[in-house]
Amino acid sequence: MPRYSITTFGCQMNVHDSERMHDVLRCAGYTEAGSADEADVLVLNTCSVREKAEQKLRSEVGRLARWKRERADRVLVVAGCVAQQEGERLLKQMRAIDVVVGPDNIPELPGLLGDLAIGGLPIARTVFDLDAPRFLVASPPSSSPRAAPTAFVTVMKGCDERCSFCIVPHTRGPERYRPSDEIVAEIAALVAAGTREVTLLGQTVNSYRDPLGALPRAPGASADDPDESEFAALLRRVAADVPGLARLRYTSPHPRHLTPSLVLAHAELAVLPRHVHMPVQSGSDRVLRRMIRRYTRAEYVARTRALVEAVPGLTLSTDIIVGFPGETEDDFAATLSLVREVGFKGLFGFKYSRRPHTPALKLPDDVPEGVKGVRLARLFEESEALLAAHLSALVGTTQEVLVEGRDKERGHGGAGGALWSGRTGRHEIAHIDGAGELDLLGEVVDVSITRANKHSLQAELTEAARAAARPRQRGLEARPGRRSLPVVAAEGG
Ligand code: SAM
Repeated sequence: MPRYSITTFGCQMNVHDSERMHDVLRCAGYTEAGSADEADVLVLNTCSVREKAEQKLRSEVGRLARWKRERADRVLVVAGCVAQQEGERLLKQMRAIDVVVGPDNIPELPGLLGDLAIGGLPIARTVFDLDAPRFLVASPPSSSPRAAPTAFVTVMKGCDERCSFCIVPHTRGPERYRPSDEIVAEIAALVAAGTREVTLLGQTVNSYRDPLGALPRAPGASADDPDESEFAALLRRVAADVPGLARLRYTSPHPRHLTPSLVLAHAELAVLPRHVHMPVQSGSDRVLRRMIRRYTRAEYVARTRALVEAVPGLTLSTDIIVGFPGETEDDFAATLSLVREVGFKGLFGFKYSRRPHTPALKLPDDVPEGVKGVRLARLFEESEALLAAHLSALVGTTQEVLVEGRDKERGHGGAGGALWSGRTGRHEIAHIDGAGELDLLGEVVDVSITRANKHSLQAELTEAARAAARPRQRGLEARPGRRSLPVVAAEGG
């Protein structure tokens, strides 16, 4: 049986696409190789949101040319956003590549590999499925008794925004939505198999509309509001139809669609955790306008404030770009003041990078690289201080943690033996000490917070949680969450 290996660059959407490539290849008779060296087929699932990510692909392909030369029948596949962006050009530029496959063409991958195996020429397939959008579904757990505690479920793909810095509309195409019946069925199947938390995925996830018109209007939704969508109605349907789901998250929303109906859903649905990632990009109205974000700073503040008032204790995190063309010291100061005003408890910050096919290419990239670096460092300083104060304030409190795995498996390298870790309802990472003899995987447990680390919390089970926990049994491990795939550069968004 041919063996494959997948390396993932980029965002959660790419992680999810890689999971589906695993499914598609396994169904076609391929088995996963222990390492790239053992693989017959190597897939690089790429990101092109920032230039650096694209450069990583190019250096990786350069490195793999040697891997290919070692055996004539080895196949190198480039998938994801760079594949979509460059198409055939990649085949011409980098002779080591055999197959280029866009995000919408993943189901065709085994066929393309088959053609190659019988002497076909290198090929690029990068066609959007505009007429009949396909949403690949996770294959049900088979060989192991438990599903991973957390899973992603796609609700929409593509993007109809035209943010001037962003390549996504070009690499992912226009918005296409998945019927709510299908979404609910996938979540119900995951929960039946043991998944506790689902993250709904989409480029602007909260612009969701049911393509079959199967959702009733959500409470608080206004027919006259152009920013209204059916996302709140979808959340309500999932909450009602899948009562066993412990947590329902979503990423990435757009502030425009943070409408009263979504705020009300947060206030009323216990399954929605008290944390939302809401990309803002800048705190300066001048820059927001040039970024074509279609909201003002005041609108962002008012909308997020309504959310926090409706759900006491809810925290917000965000994405920010520094050094966008024309960004002055005053514009950047406005961004810092917004970070303080909203009090973000997490932040992904990026230096602006010019991307092909984006409207901002018409603007000069006039903020020097050094200035971008200084601003980014200043931004992180501000956000780290906010996070440190927040985490310290939690010491001594009791929090509910969904246990996602053992620290070592999750790459945290917890001190001493089997240390469990998971996330609180507000998405803080919590490491649980002294519970190695217990089986906590997938459990929602009460913990006392004992210490604040730089980016996480240290915790202990409460007496009641310890008394209720199961002892650990050998052989009952979860099917490896696909989040343990090699992710080269996972970033927010
Ligand atoms: N849905 C998100 C939104 O509302 O904007 C976009 C997700 S994007 C894949 C992840 C993040 O990458 C963006 O939020 C933005 O901060 C950053 N980003 C996108 N294009 C960029 C560029 N040209 N330069 C620097 N950062 C960029």
